[in-house]
Amino acid sequence: MTLRIAVGGFQHESHSFAPRATRYQDFEHPGGFPGLCEGDAVFPAIRGTSVPLAGAVAVAEAAGVDLVPLAWAFANPAGPVQDEAFERIIALICANLSRALDAGPLDGVYLELHGAAVADSFPDAEGEILRRVRAIIGAVPLTISLDPHCNLTQAMVDRVDALVPYRTYPHVDMKPSGAQAMRLLLRRIAHDKPFARAFRQIDFWISLPAQCTLMPPMSPVLDARAEIEARTGAVELGFCFGFPYADFHDCGVALAAYAETQAQADAAADELAAFINAREATFAIEILDTNTAVARAIQNAGTGKPVVIADTQDNPGGGGHGDTTGLLSELIRQNAQGAVFCLINDAESAAACHAVGLGNTVQLSLGGKSDGVPIAVTATVENLTTGKCTLTGPMGAGNPGNLGPCALIRVAPGVQVMVVSQKMQALDQAILRHVGIEPASARILALKSSVHFRADFQPIASQVIVAAAPGPVVADPATLDFKHVRDSVRKRPMANR
Ligand SMILES: [Zn+2]
Repeated sequence: MTLRIAVGGFQHESHSFAPRATRYQDFEHPGGFPGLCEGDAVFPAIRGTSVPLAGAVAVAEAAGVDLVPLAWAFANPAGPVQDEAFERIIALICANLSRALDAGPLDGVYLELHGAAVADSFPDAEGEILRRVRAIIGAVPLTISLDPHCNLTQAMVDRVDALVPYRTYPHVDMKPSGAQAMRLLLRRIAHDKPFARAFRQIDFWISLPAQCTLMPPMSPVLDARAEIEARTGAVELGFCFGFPYADFHDCGVALAAYAETQAQADAAADELAAFINAREATFAIEILDTNTAVARAIQNAGTGKPVVIADTQDNPGGGGHGDTTGLLSELIRQNAQGAVFCLINDAESAAACHAVGLGNTVQLSLGGKSDGVPIAVTATVENLTTGKCTLTGPMGAGNPGNLGPCALIRVAPGVQVMVVSQKMQALDQAILRHVGIEPASARILALKSSVHFRADFQPIASQVIVAAAPGPVVADPATLDFKHVRDSVRKRPMANR
């Protein structure tokens, strides 16, 4: 008998304190990912990309499953999703699901979700999506993949038959996570009995720079996760690092275990929770102020490999607008040489560069549209593009760049800036190559990114420096004015201990 499975996706990571809300149009044209698509348009859009659904589809097709595409949407992290956008996109998923059921019974549903979406009226947006989906499909098996930056809730755990967060940050295993969620769905369908499950929340937050799984303090936790999952026999032990910028009750680190027996699920979740709790102090890290970061980069540059500075607090992949100028100003002030700043998201300045043309100079009030702190520069236009490129790095190979009109400008003798019109995290060397910069040849590379850049840029870097320049993706979320987070959470590891 051929199985019939419906698939779709909705991904957003919402930052309650970000400068701009997330609109419907942001899902139509997301930098670095396919645009919103529905029905028969879904598979052509995601095939060949790195998104989880592509991995799930490959497993299902290999198993001879009859797949029904619902809808798929992604927008870059920013403020909460406006109700209008949320309702419109989730209605697409739900309406296609109902139509699929009108045509015949479904054996299962797989959804690619993020887990840290906040809609204006639904702080636990994924919990709400899953409530609506369950209302349509009843007890039909349902599995999901999640971004590990999700803020997992009991409602999400209860409403799915299994969930699979990616294991890595940088996220180089999006497709394998979708594949695993599809394998668990097939297993659940064959088994015809729900898995037992256990949900545990951790009572301290881990800041984004401390969440990188390429090194401690996170790498030992991921090793322990795999070991505990195998030893306890859990079918899935999911570790969600949390996105500590969503102002709602359940924001933070959490675990979910799914297993054949309740004892297995509880054992797996309790062991991993104990492992993490015992290491709380290791998650407290410090990052450099802008002045020190730039001075250190200048001092250490010139080895033949670039020094990379991460402009972590304005990370467009964490809710930043990608246009703050604090780090750029400091590079100019300290007279950095061979520095490339990637990127400033400023459509007005990009348009001004295109208007004046290649080789000419233009006065710009560059960046700072999101925080009111632009810098006045005389820019020489060194390259102009339409912003279309294809990503090549470990995270996004095959994904469309779509940066809108771009300009490479020189704003000081030793400082070039890439100006884009569509925001995207600076996580892939292809972004720079498409304006004629070979990243490995730069002395200093300043990147708007917190951690994802490490997948493609760390291998070419002599050193990585994380700088605390202005932006909403603060390295210490305890400095933000949260109002709805549960009282038991320590927003800084070891706070008041
Ligand atoms: Zn993420």
